[in-house]
Amino acid sequence: MSAAKSTIDWHARAAQLAPEGRAFIDGAYVGALSGEQFDNVNPATGKVFGRVAAGDTADIERAVASAKAAFRKGVWSQTKPSHRKKVLAAFAQAILAHREELALLETLDMGKPISDSLKVDVPAAARCIQWYAEAIDKIYDEVAPTGPDALALITREPMGVVGAIVPWNFPLVMAAWKIGPVLAAGNSLVLKPSEKSPLSVIRIAQLAIEAGLPPGVFNVVPGFGHTAGKALALSMDVDAIAFTGSTATGKLVMQYAAQSNMKRVSLECGGKSPNIVLADYPDLERAATAAAYAIFFNQGEMCSAGSRLLVQRAAREAVLERVQAIGRTMQPGDPLDPATTLGAIVDEVQMKRVLGYIDAGRKEGAKVAFGGQRAREDSGGYFVEPTVFDGVGRDMRIAREEIFGPVLATITFDTVEEAVEIANDVDYGLAAAVWTRDVRTAHRVARALRAGVVYVNCYDADDITVPFGGFKQSGFGRDKSLHAFDKYTELKTTWLDLS
Ligand code: NAD
Repeated sequence: MSAAKSTIDWHARAAQLAPEGRAFIDGAYVGALSGEQFDNVNPATGKVFGRVAAGDTADIERAVASAKAAFRKGVWSQTKPSHRKKVLAAFAQAILAHREELALLETLDMGKPISDSLKVDVPAAARCIQWYAEAIDKIYDEVAPTGPDALALITREPMGVVGAIVPWNFPLVMAAWKIGPVLAAGNSLVLKPSEKSPLSVIRIAQLAIEAGLPPGVFNVVPGFGHTAGKALALSMDVDAIAFTGSTATGKLVMQYAAQSNMKRVSLECGGKSPNIVLADYPDLERAATAAAYAIFFNQGEMCSAGSRLLVQRAAREAVLERVQAIGRTMQPGDPLDPATTLGAIVDEVQMKRVLGYIDAGRKEGAKVAFGGQRAREDSGGYFVEPTVFDGVGRDMRIAREEIFGPVLATITFDTVEEAVEIANDVDYGLAAAVWTRDVRTAHRVARALRAGVVYVNCYDADDITVPFGGFKQSGFGRDKSLHAFDKYTELKTTWLDLS
């Protein structure tokens, strides 16, 4: 690996970058058929640093046709699992080999700190694809216990063409959570990245081809949601749509599926995750440190962010003090500085939305204990201070709605029952956490929490081996782990009469 780079090195490299912004269809980069493009803005400076093809219905149709033809020809779908393993493992290695370039694209595109892009996002994306590569030739089908007169085979088959629509907050990782299982299972894929951060995924499409994936099997069409995204979800030739994004858009995707061909839908949507700290937890400093990272990591632009801190009255002061101490060490900085831990908000719209929520919290009577302002305005970029609200009422907007920024709502409670009641009293159910020394309380609370992931005495612990996804309006279907294959395979029964 090359030597660690300084801020100056990263800026110099960024200045020389000429990012590819075209769609990747049938194994080659192509502009949108309309010729339309849109600006790619660096959120740390507010300046345009590239142009991206504005894919629309015609481009989606072209990509879907290519994906469908590849599927029908069997150039990937009919290959041996061991072959798919080899190609996908080479793809994962190629991502790692381009680690610095991809990390730079990720940071310039969405504003996250370069150290996170380099040490978290790119390796996690590669690891995910590698894991599904290694899994696919170790999965067996089933024979049903029907009795001696029949042989009933229960097999899994690829769905066909899968459409994936992903958000901007972890552009590579969210894409990899689809790419890995979709391709390992033998499907063809048309992926639409977010218009706010499409570059890293556009880049890796080429790496996939170089690793041996046949043309047409993996296509990327950048563009806006209401044009390219909608066309993908409405396509009559897409067999399944895997969506990650907001709950509001997820509901639209369900409608598009119903209006078109009843394609299978899976949704990974928003969250407003409760992080419950009980006063009996012996290391409140540790709990508070985790609470701070749970909301400030990735600028709080995290579906599973611990955005509601539910703290028992006796622990409130100690926990809040520590959260603020961590906040002070995480002031917004230049995302290309390797020491920065809190970068830019993805764009001006999102920054205004976050600041709007901070305003709403103040107006509804919550107290800003820390932060609460825009930062680094001179840079031209979109930065918001890590912000902590105290005295938040459970019915306030900042306690119920997903802000998707570095804004923590602290709610104080007295009893465990009250904490669980407040925790479950939102539309979302993605993640939740409880901190306690009592194993019985830990299990009882974990069972009572209506969330797809419950952390006990930790937050955001992560491994590709465990499923990720939500209850309630956080969606349905699971990313990661072998369970992801449920979304991208059809179950078939083949009954042979032996009588
Ligand atoms: P978004 O819903 O605005 O956009 C997500 C994607 O959908 C983008 O690619 C966008 O172009 C596309 N889109 C928008 N309108 C569309 C339409 N009418 N038809 C089809 N596609 C459309 O969400 P976002 O702002 O990009 O991402 C933030 C949201 O994503 C948050 O709510 C966050 O919680 C959620 N998220 C969830 C998970 C998870 O695993 N549950 C992970 C990351 C992000």
